[in-house]
Parts: sequence; structure tokens; C-alpha cells
Amino acid sequence: MKKEFAVIGLGRFGGSICQELSREGMEVLAIDKNEERINEFKNIASHAVIGDSTDETVLKELGIKNIDHVIVAIGDNIQASILTTVVLVELGVNKITVKAQNDYHAKILDKIGAHHVVHPERDMGRRIAHSIISNNIVDYLELSDDHSIVEVKAGKKMIGKSIIGLDIRANYGCTVVAIKQGKHINVSPTPEDTLREDDILVVVGADKDIARFERQLV
Ligand code: ADP
Repeated sequence: MKKEFAVIGLGRFGGSICQELSREGMEVLAIDKNEERINEFKNIASHAVIGDSTDETVLKELGIKNIDHVIVAIGDNIQASILTTVVLVELGVNKITVKAQNDYHAKILDKIGAHHVVHPERDMGRRIAHSIISNNIVDYLELSDDHSIVEVKAGKKMIGKSIIGLDIRANYGCTVVAIKQGKHINVSPTPEDTLREDDILVVVGADKDIARFERQLV
């Protein structure tokens, strides 16, 4: 059976999730207390309903309990976001993802039983900061507090050398998991693969090791 999603709060973040899920052919129930927002999503989501998600009866009547994954994307109103999450947890929703505004909000969401807490603004800020620091960093994704995946352009010192020749894992403690060459992606590079100009390496490792790798090789 097709997976069903609900997105509560159709601001920039929730709206974009709703749009993308719908574009991918998913069944999406869109909920917002603002009529204008709902009108905007009537033709995008499978169902778009005006309602205050802090009201348990509203969520019950919408059959939220049977939805596979509920995303709470209420922005500035932290109180409404927390209250909505409490109701969803109490109703026993299978999977609840909530957008946090700040670290305090995230901590509370975690404590009250949200299954997944996301920080889109903070994460995007970090990604952009990393790409600003170095012209060679194309993208950055945090895996944990001290591990990341980065996409870096192959530096001059790497061109014409193989992964084993550079001995990246032994020397820097990080692993090259893929090499992008234009539109082609080599997802299982061998130690013998030689790096060429304009190659982009996808590297995973501890932040301190990645930083050393960047300083010395990129
Ligand atoms: P963003 O920063 O992602 O743009 P906003 O704060 O602008 O987020 O948007 C959040 C959305 O959540 C708004 O459209 C608002 O109407 C909706 N919203 C806020 N509180 C509730 C609530 N209690 N029930 C349903 N929708 C809500």
C-alpha cells in the first residue's frame, strides 16, 4: 500500500515538503489553520484541510493516527509545535518528524517523544558556511556531532594520483565513498581509481580528519 504522509504547517519549510512529496506521487494530507495557505495547496496535496493542530479532536477526526508519517512544520509558534507533537505522540502516530526553531525547542521535542527532530535553518547555515570557507567544498552534510560527509573538488595535489597512491584512509582517516565525474557517479571507487581534474570526491569521516584532509590535499 502507498505510504501516507501529513504535513502540519504550510510555511516555506512545510510547504516545500508538501510540494516535493506530492511531486513524487505520495499521498499527502496538508493541514494549516490559515485558509489562504490551504487554498494554495488544494491542487497540490491529496487533501488540504483547515484546522488547528493543537486541538486533539481536529487531529482525531482527520484520522491522523492511521497516517504513516506526520511532519510538524509549524515555524515561529513553538508552543503550538510542542502541543501538536504531544497530541500526536498521545494518539500513537507511527512516525513523527518535527522542525525545531532552536536547541531548547529541539530538546523539548526530544523529551516529549518526537521520533525525529530536524533543524533546517541551522543545517543549511552550516552547509553554506563550509562552502564559503573553502571554494573546493561543494557540499557538506553532518552525520553526527563529530562526523560528516563532504563533497570536495579534487585538489591539484590529487590529480593523476590514485586513491591508494594518496593513501587517503591511512594518512587522513577518512574514506572516499564516491567520485563524481560530470554527470557520472562512481559509487564504489577502487583504490586504483585515478583522480582527474574536475573530479568531485565524496568523503566520509570524523570532522577533524576531514579538516586535515582538506588542509593538506584539497
Ligand atoms: P516557515 O518558517 O517554515 O515559513 P511559518 O512560521 O511561516 O514557517 O509557517 C508555519 C505555518 O504553520 C503557517 O502557515 C501557520 O499558519 C501554520 N500554523 C501555525 N500554528 C498552527 C496550528 N496550531 N495549527 C495548524 N497550523 C498552524
